[in-house]
Amino acid sequence: MKQIDPVIPSTAVTVIGAGLAGSEASLILAEAGLDVCLYEMRPLVRTEAHRTDRPAELVCSNSFGSDLPDRASGLLKEELRRLNSPLIRIAEKSRIPAGAALAVDRERFSENVAALLSRHPRIKLIRAEVGEIPAGRPVIVAAGPLASPALAASLAKLTGKDNLFFFDAIAPVVTLESIDFGKAFRASRYERDESGAGDYINCPFSKAEYESFIEALTGAERIPLKSFEEAINAGVRVGRGPFFEGCLPIEILALRGPDALAFGPLRPVGLTDPQTGKRPWACLQLRRDNQLGDAYNLVGFQTNLKYPEQKRVFRMIPGLENAEFVRYGEMHRNTFIAAHGTLNLQLQMIRYPNVFIAGQLAGVEGYAGNIAFGHVAARNVIRYISGQAPIDPPQETMIGALIRAIVGNDSDDIQPVKANFGILPPLENPKRSKKERAAQYVERALRRYDLSGSRLEPESRQAENDPV
Ligand SMILES: Cc1cc2nc3c(=O)[nH]c(=O)nc-3n(C[C@H](O)[C@H](O)[C@H](O)COP(=O)(O)OP(=O)(O)OC[C@H]3O[C@@H](n4cnc5c(N)ncnc54)[C@H](O)[C@@H]3O)c2cc1C
Repeated sequence: MKQIDPVIPSTAVTVIGAGLAGSEASLILAEAGLDVCLYEMRPLVRTEAHRTDRPAELVCSNSFGSDLPDRASGLLKEELRRLNSPLIRIAEKSRIPAGAALAVDRERFSENVAALLSRHPRIKLIRAEVGEIPAGRPVIVAAGPLASPALAASLAKLTGKDNLFFFDAIAPVVTLESIDFGKAFRASRYERDESGAGDYINCPFSKAEYESFIEALTGAERIPLKSFEEAINAGVRVGRGPFFEGCLPIEILALRGPDALAFGPLRPVGLTDPQTGKRPWACLQLRRDNQLGDAYNLVGFQTNLKYPEQKRVFRMIPGLENAEFVRYGEMHRNTFIAAHGTLNLQLQMIRYPNVFIAGQLAGVEGYAGNIAFGHVAARNVIRYISGQAPIDPPQETMIGALIRAIVGNDSDDIQPVKANFGILPPLENPKRSKKERAAQYVERALRRYDLSGSRLEPESRQAENDPV
């Protein structure tokens, strides 16, 4: 490990990575009275996706997903509220309008996290790359999907397996003033947002416009995925394919068939073009990207096209003919461990009980999920140090189900898991409609928090260290 500060108490918990999971974990540990050495390699060592030196930087979308109570991601956030998650509190303080989603001003969000971390007398933020996981003392590894190669190699030694490499993609952002409102219009899908003002900007396609766009998109030049090819050649174990199903580059998704986008990210349902009074053939939504509201991201348009190609092809979208790009889409490495047999339900390494893995590195996907794993890991470190039984989010809760879905996956098809109702145990008396079933899942999950006073502590059980 490089540059360890000699003034750090030897009893301190080491947290590697001041991202979403690491920042949440550090705040939980410090609030419990533990000293924390939080290592962050930026800006000394950069990643392919982070742009600042701030903690908890949101690398792509500025949205934590739907906040509706009948959605899986809404339930996850409600559970984090019940656990009094510091980062969710900050997300709410940094919130900007986005219909039913919890979207934030990304700069304000990470500035607020930075302020809270730096104000806490028990947290020492150390700007250094950790190359090796320290032995013998409590450590939370929260280095994220872009963990530095040296750390990934050290982790691979501990897990006894090769890391899995996948690729993720970032969506482009355009300026508001460059959007042509002669064609684009403001509306939320079904106008489900409370204000009814329509937080999204919509670019409607006619059938002909859609078809020529798809043709250009599928024929456009892509950046070769060199590191993926290198990884394959080096014999690195990979899952089913190089892309996450939920984060497919738009041009790859478009290759699945001429209507793939019209039924996917460009679906027009719930939208009426005011120019025609009809539902468009297809429709791109743009979501506000900052507090000022002068930049918008192209929802679902993660891409690996070459920059000039992005400009050429995305300017074919009605309303974006003169779009100015604040940021182009990009693709990136994504690293995470195969958790089955490596971690227990406390996110603790089975063979090295002083080491806890949090965030995307553990195999959870999505901002709120990463915060949740940072939270659980930290609370279990506290209990590990004090010799108490670990917290054990029940399987009926979204957090408990996420942990089980990841740790319990013994197949070769390992993909990061996002909050979804499908990972929860079946309902006893499921209602007929999807909406009613969602309400049943939510009610059952939140009852577990009510029963445990939101502590999620096991009633009588002692710590289990067995793998699932
Ligand atoms: C390109 C990309 C786009 C994504 N887009 C989205 C999205 O739109 N929505 C969504 O919900 N999720 C998205 N994700 C997935 C995931 O939610 C985010 O990556 C999230 O930030 C992960 O949280 P984390 O705390 O695990 O890691 P991070 O937030 O990445 O934090 C890890 C931190 O560790 C630091 N670090 C790494 N190695 C070391 C080391 N050796 N020593 C010290 N510090 C180190 C890094 O600099 C970083 O600050 C995306 C992921 C990627 C890679």
